[in-house]
Amino acid sequence: SGVKKYFPITGGVFRRTIGAVKAVDDISFTLRKGETLGLVGESGCGKSTTGRVIMKILDPTAGTIRFDGHDITKLSGRALREMRQDFQMVFQDPYSSLNPRMSVGTLVAEPLIVNKKGTREQIRDEVERLLQVVGLSPEARLRFPHEFSGGQRQRIAIARALALKPKLIVADEAVSALDVSIQAQILNLLADLRKEFGLSYVFISHNLAVVKHVSDRVGVMYLGRMVELADKAKLYNQPLHPYTQALLSAAPEPKRNVTRDRIVLAGDVPSPANPPSGCAFHTRCPKVMDVCKSQRPELAAYGEGQFVACHLYA
Ligand code: SF4
Ligand code: MG
Repeated sequence: SGVKKYFPITGGVFRRTIGAVKAVDDISFTLRKGETLGLVGESGCGKSTTGRVIMKILDPTAGTIRFDGHDITKLSGRALREMRQDFQMVFQDPYSSLNPRMSVGTLVAEPLIVNKKGTREQIRDEVERLLQVVGLSPEARLRFPHEFSGGQRQRIAIARALALKPKLIVADEAVSALDVSIQAQILNLLADLRKEFGLSYVFISHNLAVVKHVSDRVGVMYLGRMVELADKAKLYNQPLHPYTQALLSAAPEPKRNVTRDRIVLAGDVPSPANPPSGCAFHTRCPKVMDVCKSQRPELAAYGEGQFVACHLYA
């Protein structure tokens, strides 16, 4: 809660700090056990940084991160290493996240070996089991990542992520590099694994259709802030925030008969180093009011299961 992540900007001859990129600017949310929370927004909105802060890959500038009731914000050393086993991340490009010189078996076994999870034979059996869990043959362990397609490589990355029996998986654009037909297979695999192992996911994507497919709740981010957070059905059927409305109006929905009028936003996303005052969206909002320019709207409940940060709902 209250999480901020600012990256300092240095400049001048003395490399002094002259400002900060407010990648994540005061966001709070709770992930429920067994839930998939989608995080959407355009690139640069802070969703990946949020994922990395949750994973403790990055330390927050401010705020606290709790896991199972424990404050893990300041964990370090051995306690952090132990806790890390509960958290795993799956990235966009499985090729760059898998060392090409390691066999698939070694890649999946590595977390088990590093954390001393059994004898050689036990680990080999476990690797074969994990490969089967993600829909690959046990013999895949003898081959190398480049021998596999993008979708299969993502399955290998998922097997590796599952090795330490995590409770939470943060998936950052995990299917964005894949063909649409393969995307569906990987999304279905993630959904099956969630049921089977009681996993929770934070699912980060710029793709609203993908997020809709997998999420229970969805958070919409804009310039480092959470502007709307709602149950999936609410968010997609009655979006409240003008930014959510614009994003959805631009997303194609081939199976629906409703044609939303496309809302075209003026201008580009402003720089997070110099976000607009008040509501950060006010420079592009079709419904902007005077108050929006000076007062920052806080995320507040509006109806059942829906939170929005916008003065229209005050
Ligand atoms: Fe638009 Fe104002 Fe709402 Fe921001 S607070 S989204 S500018 S109406
Ligand atoms: Mg990103």
